[in-house]
Amino acid sequence: MMLKQYQEEFANKNRQFIFMNAEGVVIESDQRLFDIPISSSILELHPFFESLPALFDSTEEEFDFFCIHLAFNENTFITDVKLRKKMDGFLLIITDLTEHYDSYQSVTQSRNESVIKTELTVLKNLELQERERFKNRFIHNFSHELRNPLTSIMAIIDILDATEMTTEQSKMLDFLKESNSNLRLMLEDTLSIGMIDAGKLEIQHKLFNLRKFFELMQFTYTAKAKKKGLKFVSSWDYRIPEFVEGDRLRLFQIVTNLLDNAVEYSEQGKVSFEIQFNQKRANATSLRFQVTDTGIGIPEESQEAIFESFHREQSEDRSKGTGLGLTIVKRLLELMNSKIQLKSEPDKGSVFYFDMSFKYPLPSESRWSEHSNKKAVDKGVKARKKYKILLVEDDEYVQLTLFKILLNTDNFQIDLAYDGALVLQEVVNNDYDLILMDVDLPNLTGIQITKLIRDFPFKNIKNVPIIGITANAYQENLDMCIAAGMNDVVIKPYEKEKLLNIILKKLK
Ligand code: ADP
Repeated sequence: MMLKQYQEEFANKNRQFIFMNAEGVVIESDQRLFDIPISSSILELHPFFESLPALFDSTEEEFDFFCIHLAFNENTFITDVKLRKKMDGFLLIITDLTEHYDSYQSVTQSRNESVIKTELTVLKNLELQERERFKNRFIHNFSHELRNPLTSIMAIIDILDATEMTTEQSKMLDFLKESNSNLRLMLEDTLSIGMIDAGKLEIQHKLFNLRKFFELMQFTYTAKAKKKGLKFVSSWDYRIPEFVEGDRLRLFQIVTNLLDNAVEYSEQGKVSFEIQFNQKRANATSLRFQVTDTGIGIPEESQEAIFESFHREQSEDRSKGTGLGLTIVKRLLELMNSKIQLKSEPDKGSVFYFDMSFKYPLPSESRWSEHSNKKAVDKGVKARKKYKILLVEDDEYVQLTLFKILLNTDNFQIDLAYDGALVLQEVVNNDYDLILMDVDLPNLTGIQITKLIRDFPFKNIKNVPIIGITANAYQENLDMCIAAGMNDVVIKPYEKEKLLNIILKKLK
């Protein structure tokens, strides 16, 4: 009994029942929401009701309307309205759903907002990606443009170096050398970051002599540390294999960046480089590389930030670097599935270290590969006959400098071609020992010319060694050169000795 009363109280609280005749005159109303006078016409109360008479004649008996805004007698409700045809008239049921519709609306609105937000985030990401792409393209083109002039400067410095000079001139040249090599390092750093960002840097897995690598570091940094009045110590565990498979160049980049910093940011004491043995399994070994200094140290709160691009703890003039060194170290190690670790205390010094796994071959294999390398170099040194080389290059300065590098050694006779079309003619009419070819030639590119030569029907022409020279250091480009049939590719700016070595190696 009680429950029924309560039920009614709640069930009908927000619902009004109105009974009317076929003219819309109110016969009965429970007045729960609106006060509607008995005998008044409902059609005049609100524009919504004006549409009702049209339904009165319909054969349908039930009509439902949703989300109707009704406002009269100072009351405003958002309602659902039902009209029911009865034997003796029409029943109108108005249900107040203001709360429901309001909350529904706010949910819809917030849902719309979150949809918009998601779209904005997507757009923002696209923008970031586009900016990243632009940056990479810019770095790529920019460094590409820098390589040619830098190569010329390096070569001309070498040429000048071999001439008679006053002490003052020679000092100036030293300064030029130093600036140029800094410029070159910056170019390499910027390129590396660009390539890592673009996902274009591939890690090599080639056999190299780790012991020799270690000795090179010993040699280089004993001298560098001494120059600053620092001691250099190093250690090598006898259990470490002499030859390992890995990316020597990237390891070199990582270790020299750390060692350069250790020397740069220490005023007294010592810098040490250790390769420690972690463990050996089957034919793989895990090693720890560690660089320790007794320098200015890095405060705890900066120990993360120093790995970001262009972050410097000291003022510009205190630091000579590009601010990219540690960023490169971190990113390269990530690519090699390792992680740079740091322990440091201000005024005491820093320890940077990382672990890396290497596969290593049986000792007999490694000895063989070293032997074969040595033979190639010996052959060049002993050579007496003059080799005939065709130089294909369109840039006059590069032509000139390459010419001089080659002529200085007295081992070569050189012909020059500055256009792709001329190359084929020269190749057919002369018996060249080697072709040195700029890859980025206008009109017919070095890659196209190489393919044409490799397709020649005559053995002596089709097999001539071709060394590409390119300013584009991207692996894709290098792969394309090799796929076209080049025997090797040299990247600008190159060092004189390196270029000569490669040429000697490839001579038939
Ligand atoms: P930079 O070219 O400025 O040396 P890095 O990325 O190599 O750029 O290093 C970033 C910053 O980290 C340096 O400017 C320096 O403040 C700090 N740093 C790096 N190595 C050391 C170190 N061994 N001792 C103290 N500070 C260091």
